[in-house]
Amino acid sequence: MASAPARLHRRALLGGLVAAPAVLQFGRAQANGVQAKGAYVFPLGVASGDPAPDGFVIWTRLAVDPVAPDGLGGMGGAVPVQWDIAADESFRNIVASGRIAAEPAAAHSVHVEVEGLIPGRPYWYRFSAMGQQSPVGRARTTPAPDAAVDALRIAVASCSNWESGYFSAYGHMADEAPDLTLFLGDYIYEYSRGPERAAEVVRPYGLEEATTLAGYRNRYALHRTDADLQRLHAAAPCLAVWDDHEIQDDYSGVWSKTPGVTPTDFLRRRAAGYQAFYEAMPIRRTRLDARLQMPIHRRVRYGQLAEFFMLDGRQYRSKQACSDGPNGGKGQIVTDAACPDRLDPSRSFLGFEQERWLYDGLANAGARWNILGQDLVMAGLRFGDGGLNTRYWTDTWDGYPVARDRLTQALATLKPRNPVVLSGDYHSFWTNDVKLDSSDPSSATVATEFVGTSITSGGPSYDGLMSAMPNNPQIKFFDSRKRGYMAIDITPGRMTTRYQAISDVRDPRAALSTLNTWVVEDGRPGAQLV
Ligand code: FE
Ligand code: CA
Repeated sequence: MASAPARLHRRALLGGLVAAPAVLQFGRAQANGVQAKGAYVFPLGVASGDPAPDGFVIWTRLAVDPVAPDGLGGMGGAVPVQWDIAADESFRNIVASGRIAAEPAAAHSVHVEVEGLIPGRPYWYRFSAMGQQSPVGRARTTPAPDAAVDALRIAVASCSNWESGYFSAYGHMADEAPDLTLFLGDYIYEYSRGPERAAEVVRPYGLEEATTLAGYRNRYALHRTDADLQRLHAAAPCLAVWDDHEIQDDYSGVWSKTPGVTPTDFLRRRAAGYQAFYEAMPIRRTRLDARLQMPIHRRVRYGQLAEFFMLDGRQYRSKQACSDGPNGGKGQIVTDAACPDRLDPSRSFLGFEQERWLYDGLANAGARWNILGQDLVMAGLRFGDGGLNTRYWTDTWDGYPVARDRLTQALATLKPRNPVVLSGDYHSFWTNDVKLDSSDPSSATVATEFVGTSITSGGPSYDGLMSAMPNNPQIKFFDSRKRGYMAIDITPGRMTTRYQAISDVRDPRAALSTLNTWVVEDGRPGAQLV
């Protein structure tokens, strides 16, 4: 937490800009059929992620034309890339380095899983290729699993729709100097607004809806040209999981939301999106298997203080409830009378394998705070009067109440210390008690939930949702009118969550303010307003 990422980044960027003209002058960039001779090959910046006590992943992707229509960034054949890890910001003390090839099959993305480092300290990293040097990033190893840790700061993001506005919230996240950032899904959006919605567009994607590998690659590439997002990735390692818009709105498992699209056809699209996600994100090696699945759920321990269970709420879930009608696989707001399917115990939200993995993990969880980082609101929201006409939105955990009951039972039975759920997707801030029985607000609180708002994506109707709140006492706070993120300080005794709001998504230099602050005390589920 001690470094100054803003200063670091400016210097790093300057380094890159100085390198580029030198290459032009000496003409060293002709290798490997690169089309734009001398163009800067690191316009997408650098990133790190999935830290461990002995290392982390460092990432970059070479490109000279980031959104070239073929999705290959204007690059040709394989390019050798040098990477360096230093113990100091000025790279006087380089502690690890190596060479790796940036391959066209991976769109010239580079993932290095660095090992052999010392736990619980910062490191700096950079890449060089074709005579040029990347910006410098700062990463951090996690403390040893048994290390006592006084403090951890995380910053939590979800839902960054390029067309909806500028990423000033990402810039403010970088200024928090977090030890770790979490991305909880909708890092990109697959669609573009048509001419009829042009008035909502702050800055156009300029790209057709992503359905192919090239299309998905270009979405990530465009996002990474954003200076605020680059600065955030360069400031701290991240833990990233996806939600629906990395592939398609409201999809579930192998089912498209579009009526008539078969799982076989949809799987092809999904696999393209998953591959592009892997290529774009600083996550550890994973690959599409024979079933075109690509596991991304994982545990990351932060000393004795915290453990993160990063969950995948999309890939393995059962088909959306009651989705054989005219709405296809789109989420719906339904009553139990109209949609008994919702209560079918054979349906799963995480998939039964990931469920078992999670319960096994919770059974041997040893950290003070056990944090579930995942995409969708867990605590539930009843629309209507609470009687037979009560309605539920089927795309969230509310569409899978029996699976949610299995999880809340596991929390109640296995008793991991201080479970906290961090969620995205709903483009609004919520502070929730996760109840043992989601249909009974008077049942025990088994976890605390914080839902971050969106970086830019527009929120749901504030008045509409507030009218439902009297029948939802488990929701202590709701506000859909602000964009921003969550900044969370964790100590052994308490977790303090600030809801950080920006002034205006249309302003690339939007101001930051704290909407409110919540505290969870060790041993006492449920957040208190400060
Ligand atoms: Fe979203
Ligand atoms: Ca979503």
